[in-house]
Amino acid sequence: MLKLVTCKTRFLGQTCDWVSMQVSRKHAEKEVETFNAYFDTVPKKEQQLFWGGKKADISSYERCNRCGGSYKKFKKATQKEIPFGSTISPIIDRKE
Ligand SMILES: [Zn+2]
Repeated sequence: MLKLVTCKTRFLGQTCDWVSMQVSRKHAEKEVETFNAYFDTVPKKEQQLFWGGKKADISSYERCNRCGGSYKKFKKATQKEIPFGSTISPIIDRKE
């Protein structure tokens, strides 16, 4: 089941409150591995155009997409924190 979590890092004078979906470290590692295997098959020019010439990195699953705060600072999201109609990015389970 989809588990949503909220970033509780202090950012710009208040709690960030950015919502992400929690994934296991194993899941994140698999995603990185799959993307990087694909990335290697793409011509260099296209790698630059679409992904800035960079491979995926597990560290992006350890930081808040908004404030850059640690995945350790996420807590279970409450109903009113969950935004409607927006993209929710993955973050590693803080207990891992
Ligand atoms: Zn944040």
